[in-house]
Amino acid sequence: MESLRTCVIKNRLRWFITQRLDNRLLNTLLIAKDIERYARTSVMDWKRLENNPPESLGISSVDICNAKCCFCAYRYYSPSRTTMDLKTTKKILDQFCEVGGKSVDFNSLVGEPLLDPRLYERIKLAVDKRLRVLLFTNGILLNKDENVSRLLRSGMDTLFISIDGFDRDTYRQIFGVDKYYEVLSGVRKLITKNREMGGPISVKLAIRSGEPASKIFATEDFQNYIKPYLDLCNIGIARAMDNWAD
Ligand code: SF4
Repeated sequence: MESLRTCVIKNRLRWFITQRLDNRLLNTLLIAKDIERYARTSVMDWKRLENNPPESLGISSVDICNAKCCFCAYRYYSPSRTTMDLKTTKKILDQFCEVGGKSVDFNSLVGEPLLDPRLYERIKLAVDKRLRVLLFTNGILLNKDENVSRLLRSGMDTLFISIDGFDRDTYRQIFGVDKYYEVLSGVRKLITKNREMGGPISVKLAIRSGEPASKIFATEDFQNYIKPYLDLCNIGIARAMDNWAD
């Protein structure tokens, strides 16, 4: 079996080649500079990894999304529309466990995990290895009963649901799609079903908003859709958006 070091370096090279060379946007000088910088950081990263193996891992198993968030690079990206094969997922999880890994999430870059047709098989592979499984979803597909029921039975640990404010227009501006009420009803469905089943997963609402908490909590939709279920989920408010310029 390949060592973890070989695998890390190969994956970084593969990422570099596909992301940098395929898009044909960079001139030769820029690429040469990036290669030099890449070579330097890769040695440093490996030294850090050797002394302090990671406990959590993000696996980008799907690169398709059903939203077009204003702060996300997905709008400018040509997704391959492929999903990682299960053999590769298993290999990654095996090697991760060998170095003492503890938790995994299946959407570390762009992509909505509920669009991954093999998501539940991947979760099972991780759960069978006693890894904690975390997922981040935009919640659009939570209004489908089948998704709710499969998530709650999957053995996963924590589901983060991104919500950007509690009015339809703001949602549309930020997410780029008109799915606001689908998300709210899906969230309600998930948290009530989670309660009926004794709370097999932990649900966290990740609200991204520049508004003060008091204003968010006073909105009619928050009062109607979320407040009655506050004992069933945690809420976090993120003030910063992702920054793809750095
Ligand atoms: S839901 Fe996530 S992956 Fe999809 S566009 Fe928004 S931030 Fe990007």
